[in-house]
Amino acid sequence: MNFSAEILCVGTEILLGNITNTNATVISQGLASVGVGLYHHTVVGDNPQRLKDALEIAFARNNLVITTGGLGPTYDDLTKETIAAYFGKKLVMHAESEEAIRSLFARWGRPMTENNLKQAMMPEGCTVLPNANGTAPGCIIEGADGKTAIMLPGPPREMAPMFRDQVLPWLEQRSGRVLRSHNVHFFGIGESALEAQLRDKMEQMENPTLAPYAKDGEVMLRVTAAAPTPEEAEVMMAPVIEKLQEHFADLIYGVDVNDLQTAAVQALQQKGLTVATAESCTGGFVSKRITEVPGSSEVFGFGMVTYANEAKMKLLGVQEETLRQYGAVSAQTAAEMAAGARALSGADIALSVTGIAGPGGGSTEKPVGLVYIGVDSPWHSEVVELNLNRGYAQQRERIRYIAGSHALDLLRRTALKK
Ligand code: ATP
Repeated sequence: MNFSAEILCVGTEILLGNITNTNATVISQGLASVGVGLYHHTVVGDNPQRLKDALEIAFARNNLVITTGGLGPTYDDLTKETIAAYFGKKLVMHAESEEAIRSLFARWGRPMTENNLKQAMMPEGCTVLPNANGTAPGCIIEGADGKTAIMLPGPPREMAPMFRDQVLPWLEQRSGRVLRSHNVHFFGIGESALEAQLRDKMEQMENPTLAPYAKDGEVMLRVTAAAPTPEEAEVMMAPVIEKLQEHFADLIYGVDVNDLQTAAVQALQQKGLTVATAESCTGGFVSKRITEVPGSSEVFGFGMVTYANEAKMKLLGVQEETLRQYGAVSAQTAAEMAAGARALSGADIALSVTGIAGPGGGSTEKPVGLVYIGVDSPWHSEVVELNLNRGYAQQRERIRYIAGSHALDLLRRTALKK
């Protein structure tokens, strides 16, 4: 079955702006992940006539309609009745759902009113989707004319697991193919440079496909394969990913890894190394990102924010002469900061960051965006000069973030050199 889908969310609260339609986001992302084409989002209030109209419009242009909301026990929960009527189906008591609702109330120790059992009335002949996190089951109705309606409850904590665990596998099975993706993460190459190197390949490739996404100074390349089974999709993607790794080498910081800090922490763990940081313009941002990674305590114990010259001298032993001669933002200071941080902490690797995040403090020789990143270890020491000025206002945070990303990437590369 080739699906074309529409999401139809039911709830006056959404129209009033009282709640955000997060269900549509979750379902959209899920449909994209299994390659079901989604063409419309619709929202209607709790009104049976408008729901009926919306359903007719939706089925006039798509063969799959996924609804959320309006499955509850109250009089304004009319989704099931309206959709069952559209398909010419009666609602009949579904024994297992009735039992599930009764036992849920018994477990809660709350009296059950008769209208709760309304939630166990299901369209005849439908596939019932048990609700592991609430009372209202969902269901799938398949009409004789190839039209399918999938009804899900409104509360996101009920809807999302039902959709993920029951609806997506059902859709994959019905569509006879699965879609699987791997995300290849790059740092140190821009989106256009990456695209230029891959353009011919990307145009020729139909399955798997390659799609680049740029964000926050990084590029992610999504490799996606469609195949009859997940295993076959994996087999199709493996050689593509291998080729990318051969070609781009350490410009790739990870495959399916969350972020740069995770890749850096993993590299340290893999090599059994520790790191300390000495930060000036990033103000602790690098250590914050390292400690975001669960398990980072294994690899990180010392992070120093040495904003003032005095702190750089007192804590890190940066020479007064170095500061006077070259300035706080200089390769020499970055090197001394890293060496000092390593000596003080006893860590295997120390990272330092010093720079001018702006908006003030720049000069012709040392403009806003000039940042030095230092790394110090027994096997590799280096200072990298960056110019992160993009010329627009409000770039302070961006400069600090990208400087941090460079520091984390340098940390990862240094650890892997051991
Ligand atoms: P219940 O059994 O709780 O009555 P229901 O299936 O009837 O569930 P609704 O009554 O329509 O669902 O919505 C219940 C709650 O779920 C809403 O008050 C809202 O907090 C949340 N909700 C509903 N629809 C959405 C949506 N599209 N996106 C995010 N949250 C939603």
